[in-house]
Amino acid sequence: MNFKCVVIHYGEIALKGKNRNYFEKKLKDNIKKALHGIPIERLERLRGRFVLHLDNEANEETIKSRLAHVFGITYFSFGRAVPKELETIKATAWSTLKDQEFDSFKIDSRRAQKEFPLSSMELNKQVGAYVQEKCGKRVDLTNPGATCVIEIAGPYALVYGERNPGLRGLPVGVSEQAVSLLSSGIDSPVASYLMLKRGVNLSYVHFHSQPFTNKASQENAEKLIRVLNRYQIRSKVYFLPFIDIQKEIMANAPVELRVLLYRRYMVRLAERVARAEEATALVTGENVGQVASQTLSNIRVVAEVTNLPVLRPLAGFDKEEIVHKAREIGTFEISTEPYEDCCSLFVPPNPETRSHPKALREAEDLLEVDELMEKTFAEAEIKIFDYRKEQTT
Ligand code: ATP
Ligand code: MG
Repeated sequence: MNFKCVVIHYGEIALKGKNRNYFEKKLKDNIKKALHGIPIERLERLRGRFVLHLDNEANEETIKSRLAHVFGITYFSFGRAVPKELETIKATAWSTLKDQEFDSFKIDSRRAQKEFPLSSMELNKQVGAYVQEKCGKRVDLTNPGATCVIEIAGPYALVYGERNPGLRGLPVGVSEQAVSLLSSGIDSPVASYLMLKRGVNLSYVHFHSQPFTNKASQENAEKLIRVLNRYQIRSKVYFLPFIDIQKEIMANAPVELRVLLYRRYMVRLAERVARAEEATALVTGENVGQVASQTLSNIRVVAEVTNLPVLRPLAGFDKEEIVHKAREIGTFEISTEPYEDCCSLFVPPNPETRSHPKALREAEDLLEVDELMEKTFAEAEIKIFDYRKEQTT
């Protein structure tokens, strides 16, 4: 036994007591899905970590990029699994370090159980002395130029150098199901990302105003979903035609309430999607005070039409923070491509900022929307996006 592997560590999920098994199983499934198309020998759960057995031909860069998109991983390292024999461990530690440039080094051993005759300290000393003899470099425990980690776990000694940071968070799917209202703007993709990071599985709903607008907003939403699917792999999307409802509002409601009325019908329709998907919450990119429609009063009148909790992970963010995150996850460029948003259509110059539920209800009493809602929902275009079918890296 001596094989190439990736040692995958997870953090938060280890804290979750009784749920731990479920979390680990989900993370394992998600890692397997993320590695779709890559020949792997085995993914083994071993004392609070995963050991991914690789064949020698495995492409490290591809695996690295895939694992870097899996929520729940704290860090992962490419290395070797070898027998728990001192001489083999020494030789493997040396081969891990020998191609790196460094002035000082450190051996960092962990021994989960007393399944190895030497203590961690003793192992550090012995392997350290061996490496020092080979390269003549000094040991530095506080600020080493290179580190070699040795983990004694189950049947193996796992030996590796560099750590690749993981995304942390919780494995997607452990936190139930929500429906995310995804425009093609900057905020809602970031809001979706943050919910995926908390382990929520998302379905998406996008409202468009075709044929009044061109297809760009829907196409951008599709591009955004492809980016978000790197984290969830597969998702269901409802594209809902919104123009008939908008026209009814335009023709028969006070102009300053238009945007709020649009939003209220969006939320009602999203709730229907949530029912169809057995989802427990809605997600929006709303952000307190960002635009006129997002005052607290307005957030309240929009949310009052549903009994589902509306999660707004960006509520307290600054715009710069949102933009920074959007760039980091790769949605910013797509969100800033020109498109005609269904809500920027017919937006009045002075929208209401201190709305009252009563005013909205009275305005709605004058609208003939029930049938239009049915029609909109019936005409939903439902698509499944699957990262595995379109992946290039
Ligand atoms: P975003 O950048 O996400 O569009 P925003 O700051 O532009 O957000 P609004 O346009 O006021 O804010 O929209 C508030 C929220 O309503 C959005 O974050 C999104 O969750 C939802 N929403 C708006 N337009 C649409 C749409 N066409 N389809 C689906 N959801 C939408
Ligand atoms: Mg918007």
